[in-house]
Amino acid sequence: MNSKKNLSGIGMTSQRTRERLLGRLMDQGISSMEVLDVIRSTPRHIFLDEALSHRAYEDVALPIGHNQTISQPYVVARMTEAIIKSGPVDKVLEIGTGCGYQTSVMARLAKSVYTVERIRPLLDRAKKNLKLIGLRNIEFKFGDGSNGWEEKGPFDAIITTAAPQQIPESLLRQLNEGGRLVIPVGGDQQELHLITRQGDKFKSEVLEAVRFVPLLVGQLQH
Ligand code: SAH
Repeated sequence: MNSKKNLSGIGMTSQRTRERLLGRLMDQGISSMEVLDVIRSTPRHIFLDEALSHRAYEDVALPIGHNQTISQPYVVARMTEAIIKSGPVDKVLEIGTGCGYQTSVMARLAKSVYTVERIRPLLDRAKKNLKLIGLRNIEFKFGDGSNGWEEKGPFDAIITTAAPQQIPESLLRQLNEGGRLVIPVGGDQQELHLITRQGDKFKSEVLEAVRFVPLLVGQLQH
């Protein structure tokens, strides 16, 4: 399927459509030029099935199969901005690779990205998508990301793209001094939290209301 995918995109994925998306992100308060530039040059259509690729540059979450979604560009921009706002980051951990869209945005702004996904076919698809884009600074793991990825930590930042009811302790422990965790928390009502590590203390800020798929425990055998 990927072999048929066109990186540059034609027609509906034209530059004009992408510029419209950028305008929308700026209207909603995204101000980091670095983040906006990366979103502008990321071919979001390759992360979607053929039948949905004409909607790739709309600012909406869309289905990617297995009851999961590709994140809304605004939310990806907001989370990424929260992570890089106080300077460059080296090592980032992502929980919930999905199709790899957020991974690809982060991988262009960090030295290395470690990403964990519990649904094997999604992880395999993400690997193909990210290879097609030519990103090589990403390590993938199949498994339950609620415990982080201890062997690779500590991390300068952790992004969780699925919502737990409570923030897992292990993610906090795997943050570097000054490290940031961006995580949606809750069930029907979710809030996006930004946690910053200060020694043994964790400063917490609520960014805004969001809607993510739930963070589930355990990995699926496929
Ligand atoms: N980051 C993606 C969004 C993925 S949706 C994007 O940019 O579009 C959230 C993903 O989290 C789903 O693929 C889901 O399978 C995964 N997920 C849910 N619980 C998980 C867990 N405990 N460990 C790892 N991945 C998990």
